[in-house]
Amino acid sequence: METASIVILMRIHVDAKKCQGHNRCYALAPELFDVDDYGNAVVIGDGSVPAELEDKARLALANCPEFAITISE
Ligand code: SF4
Repeated sequence: METASIVILMRIHVDAKKCQGHNRCYALAPELFDVDDYGNAVVIGDGSVPAELEDKARLALANCPEFAITISE
């Protein structure tokens, strides 16, 4: 019998309405965030966070002054 393996992915999201473009997230985790033409942050790809970058994702969340970053796990 096969056992199902459950992979829980962390995913980040930026609320474009809250983001004010400080770019702290980009400075702290350029592997996870990019900057759009208006200077606001966007997540790279679909926002999935590789396990080795989870600490950086949490650091970015903690340092966003607009509370624009959310993490789902
Ligand atoms: S730190 Fe927050 S407000 Fe600043 S660019 Fe990143 S998501 Fe936007």
